[in-house]
Amino acid sequence: MTQPAFHRIDGTFYVEGVSATDLAAQFGTPLYVYSRAALTAAWHAYADACAGRRASIHVAVKANSNLAVLNLFARLGAGFDIVSGGELARVLAAGGKAENVVFSGVGKTAHDMRTALEASVKCFNVESIPELDRLNAVAGALGKKAPVSLRVNPDVDPKTHPYISTGLKANKFGVAFDDARATYRAAAAMPHLDVVGIDCHIGSQITEIAPYLDAIDKLLELVDQIEADGVKIHHIDVGGGLGIRYNDETPPEIGAFVRTVLDRIEARGATDGTVREVFFEPGRSLVGNAGVLLTRVEFLKPGAEKNFAIVDAAMNDLARPAMYDAYHAIEPVVERAAPAQTYDVVGPVCESGDWLGRARTLAIEPDDLLAIRSAGAYGFVMSSNYNTRPRAAEVMVDGTRVHVARERETVAQLLAGERILPD
Ligand SMILES: *Cc1c(COP(=O)(O)O)cnc(C)c1O
Repeated sequence: MTQPAFHRIDGTFYVEGVSATDLAAQFGTPLYVYSRAALTAAWHAYADACAGRRASIHVAVKANSNLAVLNLFARLGAGFDIVSGGELARVLAAGGKAENVVFSGVGKTAHDMRTALEASVKCFNVESIPELDRLNAVAGALGKKAPVSLRVNPDVDPKTHPYISTGLKANKFGVAFDDARATYRAAAAMPHLDVVGIDCHIGSQITEIAPYLDAIDKLLELVDQIEADGVKIHHIDVGGGLGIRYNDETPPEIGAFVRTVLDRIEARGATDGTVREVFFEPGRSLVGNAGVLLTRVEFLKPGAEKNFAIVDAAMNDLARPAMYDAYHAIEPVVERAAPAQTYDVVGPVCESGDWLGRARTLAIEPDDLLAIRSAGAYGFVMSSNYNTRPRAAEVMVDGTRVHVARERETVAQLLAGERILPD
């Protein structure tokens, strides 16, 4: 990268070589904008740290499932982590290979299992005995053997938001650590399953390495027990979850994180002479800071207690603030010399929870554009049509070129599948 992906020229916000003012003029707002250079750089941070090691990267599709984004990662050689049959269809449409896909998720349907088996995905990350039973039956009916790993809940605290912490005993995810050995024995006894690995995913937006190392140590302890029972573990999947900087967080740098994890696992492997393959499933840390949401100020509304900046993006476009109380930096696209005021930045949706930023100091006027930062992960993918709002367009900037990654939805498209009552 010769210039940062997001930067300013004469006070105007740019994505690579294109000004946000031009993007908004050409494609309208609200608009998701991704930087190809930023996506590529985040990929290389993982891939370079994995080079020469027995490690592979499976992009968590749910963080950003746009076909252009997935296609970019597929071209870079990525594998993918999916949680539904729909995501498998996206990966294949984007040029990804099923043989590099791991299928996660706590509630896989028989239909989705069948589709994934027919496509020959690399591994099913299974989370319960009933799910093992179902997968065994579906595979048997197809005359296939399903490769499986068990998602173990290591009961470690990732110290993140309760809604995105997944590796505690109280969470719905994974096989309880104390039941894992017995569950592996059960899986190994099922004729249409092939036990190949072990996995965990302890949460998201994790800003420390320590919880990962705690989880890995517990997994390695279990691997010894499972192998003592005669079941070979070929890979260890450490999940995703590495955090990014939204505001003042200081997550570990991607390369340092990857090397620390690989060193820990290899150090153990060395004692029993095996180097097991390590899978990473990053989502947020690959795409989060590679995207922004552009929005336009509709009205400035002074209030008795607060001033509101009412913008044309809303909780249906970016749910994270309403859903997790999440912070996204918000910057004017064009810097003004005018005095700044404190605003709550809110959308037009009929909910008091419809806010994008609170108590932000901004020098803005009606019609100004704002850039909402760090919107590349869990942004567009969580958007809805609440209030019959068509979903935003998505574009990817590549130098001075702009690629339409998803057209803006129309109201006609929203109504298309619905029918009024018959006479
Ligand atoms: C969501 C998820 C990921 C990706 O998490 P990030 O926090 O976005 O890195 C990886 N693996 C599984 C199983 C997931 O559910």
